Amino acid sequence: TEATSASPTTTADIVTTADIVATVARLRSAFADGRTKPLAWRRAQLRALRRLLTEERTALEEALRADLGKSPVESHTTEIGFVVNEIDHTLKHLASWLRPQRVSVPMALAPAKARRVREPLGTVLIISPWNYPVNLALAPLVGALAAGNAALVKPSELAPATSAALADLLPRYLDTEAVAVVEGGVPESTTLLEQRFDHIFYTGNGAVARIVMGAAVKHLTPVTLELGGKSPAIVEPGADPATTARRLAWGKFTNAGQTCVAPDYVLAIGESAPELERELAAAITEMFGEDPARSADYGRIVNERHFDRLTALLDSGTVVAGGEHDRDDLYIAPTVLGGVSADAPVMAEEIFGPILPVIRVPDLDAAIAFVNERDKPLALYAFTESEATKRRLTTETSSGGLAFGLPIAHLAVPGLPFGGVGESGMGAYHSAASIDTFSHTKSVLDKSLRLDTMRVAYAPITDLKERL
Ligand code: NAD
Repeated sequence: TEATSASPTTTADIVTTADIVATVARLRSAFADGRTKPLAWRRAQLRALRRLLTEERTALEEALRADLGKSPVESHTTEIGFVVNEIDHTLKHLASWLRPQRVSVPMALAPAKARRVREPLGTVLIISPWNYPVNLALAPLVGALAAGNAALVKPSELAPATSAALADLLPRYLDTEAVAVVEGGVPESTTLLEQRFDHIFYTGNGAVARIVMGAAVKHLTPVTLELGGKSPAIVEPGADPATTARRLAWGKFTNAGQTCVAPDYVLAIGESAPELERELAAAITEMFGEDPARSADYGRIVNERHFDRLTALLDSGTVVAGGEHDRDDLYIAPTVLGGVSADAPVMAEEIFGPILPVIRVPDLDAAIAFVNERDKPLALYAFTESEATKRRLTTETSSGGLAFGLPIAHLAVPGLPFGGVGESGMGAYHSAASIDTFSHTKSVLDKSLRLDTMRVAYAPITDLKERL
């Protein structure tokens, strides 16, 4: 589908190296001038971004519809409204997050004061992906601005309508001296990565993450890498099958499975698989009707390349539900595959689409071993009523996030940092964690010159008493 842009302005084809160099220079000098540091500036930017999201909601919804077939409700809950909530929470707590924190001073240094002080890093580069192209560009921007940085946003070229909308709208609401959008794909990103930034915040896949980290080496720039991988969902026999199935279907088929924290596959313990598979099929019909292609609430695959990649995975098991697809419409039905083996093609890489394989494992030990033999996932889910199982999963597995009974929603809990570990990424953000990511914590020690209690420490080290 040719994307119909929400706004006619796109700079994608006219961004030159000189433009990029000039843009970065403008941002750097805005930061150097101190423009971004006052709390008042930060709050004003956040409020302006909030206004953009409210006033331009329709334009953004249309762009998301064009890029991914998202329904307005889904666009609101997972993207536009999500960022509004992030802004509101940040505005409410920012002053307290930024307040210097007193720490105690050891006796040997007393009397003196010590405190931890937040300072912005400088100019931040945010490179974002196509699957939640508003959320994943703007939620990091909220953190970068709240922490007092200048920021350059590079949206994904694979969500062209949203990219164009952001390039058009952000400069109309935000301080253009300190915030910029550069559109483009690999050439523009490559040029951007050659510039000096004070932090690079990348969301996307692990292959490009390696390129980003490699480029960061040159300027010793710290990076946050928000990546993906196969997030497992463990289901125990005691877990209510209907509720488990509905919650799995919701987490998996939102955005047609193109969610970094979507349950990638199910590990069904013991005898739980047959009933779970039946309930998954029922949940899909309940949510999207007999023909999900006609559901207003069901999205589309981003492009032909991903469509072809996904349809090639459909014969990795027995189709329990779905399986239908239409390339012209970039439609793949919500699909459940049963009887999938651990070495099936669908288990070789992150699925990132509406295909849910169910793998049977004999017991919890086998499920834990299965998870631990693979890359550390961005999220691990378990459906169980057993506190012992929850304890075991908490201590015996490693993942970016861990959620019992409900997939993907841990992202909506402001107090929980969002990030990966190992192959699923490094660093984290969302609300207070974004302040950690986009600030340096400066250690400040303050000792009066009036009374020289340090004389005991000076050479020559002779008789202590004499010098006291
Ligand atoms: P993508 O193709 O849109 O790429 C992401 C960004 O990287 C884009 O802005 C793109 O222009 C840029 N890019 C591509 N090649 C580049 C290069 N050679 N040099 C510099 N930049 C380059 O998105 P994607 O990577 O397909 O995104 C999907 C992946 O992202 C999945 O693995 C998913 O799990 C992960 N993801 C993670 C999160 C998270 O928050 N942890 C969120 C969403 C997606």
